Amino acid sequence: MLVTLLGIVALLIGGLIIISLQNHLDVFRVVILALLFFLLLIGLLIATTILSIMLLWYNNSIPKPLMKIVEFTIPLLYPIMVVVGKGLKIEKNTIRRAYTLINNKLVMATSYNLKGEAILVLTPHCLQKSFCPHKITHKVENCKRCGLCSVDQLIGLKEKYGINFIVVTGGTLARKMIMELRPKAIVAIACERDLVGGLMDVKKVPIIAVINQRPEGPCINTNVDIKEVERAVCHFIKE
Ligand code: SF4
Repeated sequence: MLVTLLGIVALLIGGLIIISLQNHLDVFRVVILALLFFLLLIGLLIATTILSIMLLWYNNSIPKPLMKIVEFTIPLLYPIMVVVGKGLKIEKNTIRRAYTLINNKLVMATSYNLKGEAILVLTPHCLQKSFCPHKITHKVENCKRCGLCSVDQLIGLKEKYGINFIVVTGGTLARKMIMELRPKAIVAIACERDLVGGLMDVKKVPIIAVINQRPEGPCINTNVDIKEVERAVCHFIKE
């Protein structure tokens, strides 16, 4: 998106140079004016985004046009946030967590009235205990419901609300399953990095991102706060 935006700006400036040459105008002045206008626009967009996020934080809702602006600018600003964060020695995961929080606030500010079957709960297979011999990727029904990992409770939610629940081995399979199932809403459970990647990839479906707990470090025997997942599912079901 950032590349597209820069491409549009380059095209506009190129066009302005040609027009000013044809009309014998001062090219330098025209380009400087165009750049100043562009910077002013970016500044306004950033200021509107920050104010909208603050409003969203305190009111839990913002007018639709402001919501659209935040949805548009946040993915664009994310790389800048990462660079600034690096300069300020802020951990990348803290920035990613902030990104998922803003995303969740936006989704929570919108009302849905979906059936359970339109909702997909998606989780990586590190949620399953590493010693568990049952292959639950592709088919969660293979879980023997021993209760030693969160998969058991997530199957409980699947039965209670009639939602789809799948365990995937990575982003490629997750994208494939989304294409196949075509859910109207997703509750994604993963680490900060994978969640931000997924949010950047899947733009057309609302996603509530739930960050997993990693008591044994990344990618092994992870957990999830089942209440947080249930709250997310209920938000999509309830009007
Ligand atoms: S609940 Fe038990 S059987 Fe099911 S995936 Fe977890 S460890 Fe395996």
